[in-house]
Parts: sequence; structure tokens; C-alpha cells
Amino acid sequence: MNATVTSRFSHRMEGVPRSFIREILKVAISPDVISFAGGLPNKELFPLEELRASADKLMSGSDRNILQYANTEGYLPLREKIAGRYARKGIQVNPENILITNGSQQGLDLLGKIFINEGDAVLIEEPGYLGAIQAFSLFRPRFVTVPMTHEGIDTEWMEQAIDNNNPRLAYLIPNFQNPSGISYSEETRHKVSDICRRRMLYLVEDDPYGDIRFEGAPKHSLHHYLPEQTILLGTFSKTVVPAFRMGWIVAPDEVMERLVIAKQAADLHTDYFTQRLIYQYLTDYDIDEHIALICHSYGKQAKAMMAALEHCFPKEVHFTRPEGGMFLWVTLPEGHSSMRLFERAIRENVAFVPGNPFYVDKEDVNTCRLNFSCSNEPEIEEGVRRLAKVLEM
Ligand code: PMP
Repeated sequence: MNATVTSRFSHRMEGVPRSFIREILKVAISPDVISFAGGLPNKELFPLEELRASADKLMSGSDRNILQYANTEGYLPLREKIAGRYARKGIQVNPENILITNGSQQGLDLLGKIFINEGDAVLIEEPGYLGAIQAFSLFRPRFVTVPMTHEGIDTEWMEQAIDNNNPRLAYLIPNFQNPSGISYSEETRHKVSDICRRRMLYLVEDDPYGDIRFEGAPKHSLHHYLPEQTILLGTFSKTVVPAFRMGWIVAPDEVMERLVIAKQAADLHTDYFTQRLIYQYLTDYDIDEHIALICHSYGKQAKAMMAALEHCFPKEVHFTRPEGGMFLWVTLPEGHSSMRLFERAIRENVAFVPGNPFYVDKEDVNTCRLNFSCSNEPEIEEGVRRLAKVLEM
């Protein structure tokens, strides 16, 4: 775009890219392509009948308020249900400290609004969730990146980075991170919360995948270790359906107060009918039973992908072994370009996301994100075979 046109828009839009993944998905849409590129939950598992029955029940009742304006914080019985689910996992949350948002993605935008002044440092993982990079970018922060290890974020590096940059926020995904599939060990969780406690730093714990565990025992939430400084994001996108855009933020009082103002200014409140619909669904059906089905299916798909990678890829290619979530992360040997691999792969009708958009300041990387939730086992095996063919090693 030329400079005259650019100057008519706000500075905050400068240099914020379109979602790279949405661009890739356009290429991967052909029916001949086996796509590991998307980040979607598997639509075959959506609880369609149950949601239809819940909607019918609501619409055939006499409560006209289901279609009325509502309060900003969200439907209290829904917030109580969310608090109840946390309580069963040992996390104590007051429903008054829960704000219902238009997906977790809106949570990120609201947090950007209340915390980030232009030029402020924000600490994120590397690789990191590109939706958070995009959401925060509009507030023109300075990203401070901290590498991931197999145990989660590198805590020594994190401590140094905080001391050198004095960030406003640390944004972390401790369970089955997007993009890497890595989960923080209990020790890392402990250390991270200690580091943030000592420096009075708020940490954002983004947890869309925590319930989608298909292997191993659950770990403590960062909120468990540091409730007074943890802002916990949750969503029904991966456990029920993403189309509803139904997420939430758990925040300490002083954060909640400001979030409510930002939320009011943005959209008054989250779609009230859908809040009531999801509440009805949670009341009439057992979501944990449904989540168990999702975990069973994704577990089989992940296993198939790991077995195929093990079998078809040379030993020099490394990959993570997630215990949950929807992604795994492949690292090619030094010097290999995942972007060039993508170009060859798409000619063989297989797609994935090259690692580039998950880094804030790296152009050409040797990492790739592979999604396993949307392909069945034969497709996974065939897709990995096609990828192995174009590896050029
Ligand atoms: N955070 C992470 C880490 C995600 O992977 C996603 C979904 N891709 C989101 C937030 C956004 O989720 P929602 O649908 O609730 O907006």
C-alpha cells in the first residue's frame, strides 16, 4: 500500500499482518490435499443433537429475556458452572471474578487494551501463539521472547528477560501449547509462578486445551500456585464448538474491574442467547463424557501421527510428543527451510504450517506445526508419507 493511503489509518495497524494461517488454509482447501495446516477441532465430534435439543428447549420456553440485552460480566449461572468445573479440579474461583468473552481471542484483545501502552514489553514464549502475537501487536508492544524447552518455557532465560525488560505481562500456554504441543512440567510451573510472584508480574495463563488430555496425569494450573497474579483464559471452542465464540477470563478484582469497562466499550456483552444455550447444554448433558470422546479420538490420531513420523522420517528430524491438544511440532535439521518444504509439500497435496508466523522476529525457520485433530488415521499415514517424500535429505 502506498504511503498516502497508509497515513489515513492509525499507527496501530502498521505492520500487523493478516493471519498467515488463514492465507495458507486457502491453498490447502482442495479436496485432494491432506491438510495438517488447520487448527480446527474435529467437526465430526460436535454435539449437534444435544445443542439442537438445548436450543429447542430455550426457544420454546416463555422466557423472552433470552433475546434481551444483558449484563457485561455474563450470565451468572454460567459463570457459576465454570467456577464449579474449576473447583472439581482443585482451582478455587469466585464466579464474580469470571468475565464471559467472545472467545478467548477477545480476552487477549481486552488484556492488550488494559495493560499495554505503546512500547511496553510483553513476554511471550518462542515459538508462541500467533493469535496472541496478532492481538497484542495492535497495542504496539515490544515483544520479549523466551525459548521453549521440552519442560516448558526456559525459566532461567525468563528470569533474565524479566530483569532486563520489566514486562507488563507474561503470556503463557502451559498445557499442550499452540504451536508446539509442549506442556510445562510441574517444576517449571512452580518456578514460573515463583519468578512472577517475586517481581509482582501478572501472568496470563491461556488454557484452551487443558481438558483435551489423552495421555498422562493433569498438572497444576499456574492459577493454583499464584491466584492473585494469574489471569486465566478458558474457552468452550475445543470442548463444545468454536462457532459460539464462548470464552471467559478469570481475573483478580483489580483486573476484572478494568476488563469489564473495556468489554463494555467493545461490545456491551457477549451474545446472551448463546450464553443461555451453552448453559442449557451444560445443565442437561454431561460435558465430561463428551470431552472423553474428544480425548479418545485425538489420542488415537496423535498416536497415528507420531508412529508415522517415527517410521517415515529420518532420525535427524525431531518432533514433540504431545499428551493432549491438537498439534505437534517438527524440527528439521539446522539449515533446512520449512517454507521451502511447504512449497514442495503442497505440490504433493499435503499441507502444514511452516513455523515462521510463530516467531516475532525470525524470517526463515526449520520448524513446522502439524495438526492431527482433523484427519483420520489412514489420512495421517498417507499425509506423513507424502511429506517424507519431499523432505530432501
Ligand atoms: N489461545 C490459543 C492458544 C488458541 O490456540 C486459540 C484457538 N486457536 C485461542 C486462544 C482462541 O480461542 P477462541 O476460539 O476461544 O477464541
